[in-house]
Amino acid sequence: MSKAQETVLEIDLKALKHNFEYLKSKLDNNTKFLAVVKAFGYGSGACEIASHLQELGADYFAVAYINEGVALREAGITKPILVLHPQAVNLKTLIAYSLEPNLYNPKILKEFINIASEGKLSNYPVHIKFNTGLNRLGFCKNDIAYILSEIEKTDTIKITSIFSHLAASEDLNEKEFTLNQIANFNLISKILIDKLAYKPMLHMCNTSGILNYPEAHFDMVRGGIGLYGYGNSEEENKKLIPIASLKTVISQIHSIEKGESVGYNRAFKSNSFLKTATLPIGHADGIGRQYGNGKGFVTIKGQQAPIIGNVCMDMIMVNITNIDCSEGDEAIIFGKEISAEQLAETTNTISYELITALSQRIKRVFLK
Ligand SMILES: *Cc1c(COP(=O)(O)O)cnc(C)c1O
Repeated sequence: MSKAQETVLEIDLKALKHNFEYLKSKLDNNTKFLAVVKAFGYGSGACEIASHLQELGADYFAVAYINEGVALREAGITKPILVLHPQAVNLKTLIAYSLEPNLYNPKILKEFINIASEGKLSNYPVHIKFNTGLNRLGFCKNDIAYILSEIEKTDTIKITSIFSHLAASEDLNEKEFTLNQIANFNLISKILIDKLAYKPMLHMCNTSGILNYPEAHFDMVRGGIGLYGYGNSEEENKKLIPIASLKTVISQIHSIEKGESVGYNRAFKSNSFLKTATLPIGHADGIGRQYGNGKGFVTIKGQQAPIIGNVCMDMIMVNITNIDCSEGDEAIIFGKEISAEQLAETTNTISYELITALSQRIKRVFLK
């Protein structure tokens, strides 16, 4: 791994392979793997991540929005792509790029059938989502008759899969709730499948579901955060490797006398002599203001340097009083030693939020 000379997000594609293979090792041989690459591949770069996973044998991809799917197609992704949260206004684009919609309520089902009929499509692959307790997106059990009546009237669409999403798969205190979601899903999907002349795939598990609920793997699983190296528990984190390392470099070192202040609004006031390093990364890059004023830290020469004062748009200042370092030296924001999960914890958030918030301004470097 090279030494950073500017702010970079280094992506270790070998670690991605390790994580993919680890998650796959939890599955039966015939269970498919859908790789979730929404939000720029959790900040890592959706096209590069998806291309690599396509080579490694991922069966399916998912994104949240249609434009994310378009970007994957333009980057040469040929595997099926499920759009988890399509908006009606973009459905023609979805079809133009052979993306597959999640249809989650009567309104979007109707709108999609209308557009599919106009376009004289036949058997276009769609995915029907049921709400089993997350109360976010999805048909309810009582909609089954409606879905069937709409499906019977048309041959424009074909249900490729029926799916649902777990609300608390990482939280074993909620095991009873989760098992109830799984039982509901089994029930609902059976009622629907019994009325169809073919058998759609079933899927329900995100990363924590893959790890905690093998009985809910069904025909396919939808792995996201685990691919990027986080497993939602200490035990699982040990088996996964964070793929992204966020590094930067010391732009300038200041000596701060007792009584001086550092940064905007003079939020930090020094009560003794200290040294600070200014780093070229700020809240516009995704290191939010909540990491300022002593909450977050970076690692320089293996030692923690707390962020002092307010986080600026393009810079942070860190306390390096006891660290032997120079301008031009590398600073690690997170990586394999200090994980994004650990940094996120300093502000009561989760790895998902920190890694997906990293701005596109940060250069991504892919290590083969
Ligand atoms: C984001 C998402 C996933 C992936 O979840 P992870 O916890 O990152 O594995 C799976 N399914 C749906 C519906 C999602 O929105």
